[in-house]
Amino acid sequence: MSSTRSRYAVFGNPVGHSKSPWIHARFAAQTGQQLSYEAICAPVDGFPGAVRAFFENGGAGANVTVPFKLQAYELAAADLSPRARAAGAVNTLWLDAAGLLHGCNTDGVGLVADLRRLDAPLAGARVLVAGAGGAARGILLPLIEAGCRSLHIANRTPERARELAAAFGQHDVPVHGGGYAELPAGHGWDLVLNATASSLEDAAPPLPAGAYAPGALAYDLMYGARPTRFMRQAGEAGARTADGLGMLVAQAAESFFIWRGVRPDAAPVLAELRSTF
Ligand code: NAP
Repeated sequence: MSSTRSRYAVFGNPVGHSKSPWIHARFAAQTGQQLSYEAICAPVDGFPGAVRAFFENGGAGANVTVPFKLQAYELAAADLSPRARAAGAVNTLWLDAAGLLHGCNTDGVGLVADLRRLDAPLAGARVLVAGAGGAARGILLPLIEAGCRSLHIANRTPERARELAAAFGQHDVPVHGGGYAELPAGHGWDLVLNATASSLEDAAPPLPAGAYAPGALAYDLMYGARPTRFMRQAGEAGARTADGLGMLVAQAAESFFIWRGVRPDAAPVLAELRSTF
């Protein structure tokens, strides 16, 4: 999907905190690609116009972050990847030579790439996903494709988890959804993913005792300078832990590959980014 255009951006609001310009500059230097990548704060009620102006002014591709992923999905409705359709949201846009806007979602494949880096249980794994928002929805298909044996979605609002599980009911892998109170004690999941926003409040999803199987990995999609409460609790329960910084870098690498046809090495960029915290 490489392009003669070379202008890229991330759209969000707010977007000043975004690490994407830094990450993509590192990818470009590493792969010898000549490109620019900027952060664009689109008006909350003006995302489609901002995107149109960007592509009319030489834009080749864009990442999209909060709160615009659903609007990006609508903008790219003429050509959505299966990942974008499953996620119901788009974080990667690009224009083809004929001027058609395409949309994909690289969050889930980024997560799975990072889980592989961590040698996490995946094929045959029993997976618990805490949360039923946009991030949870985006990771379900890639987890199924990675060969998980079963998926359980637990959410503070149980109905959202049930609806999400039902939306993925056509796959061979059993997908269940409900509230935290319905989770059995002592089940021992192989992989537990915190896809809630609870870590923003230094809270953690209320998981039952015995949630972690021997060798389990507890992965928080949030990232920061210190382990989240979810990670601390999981560590005390004997699980390995990781945060979502590797997912952030890996989803960016997948976007870069879509745009430029060259796959950057995420590992050194992740290591350098981690050292800046
Ligand atoms: P979202 O659509 O707003 O969904 C938020 C989810 O968190 C909902 O399931 C909500 O439950 C739950 N929640 C919020 N506060 C909670 C609390 N105190 N206790 C338990 N559950 C709580 O947000 P999102 O886009 O899915 O993002 C979720 C997280 O993923 C964020 O921390 C985000 O930073 C992270 N993320 C990371 C990456 C990455 O690259 N590393 C990419 C995407 C997202 P209700 O349904 O009951 O409200």
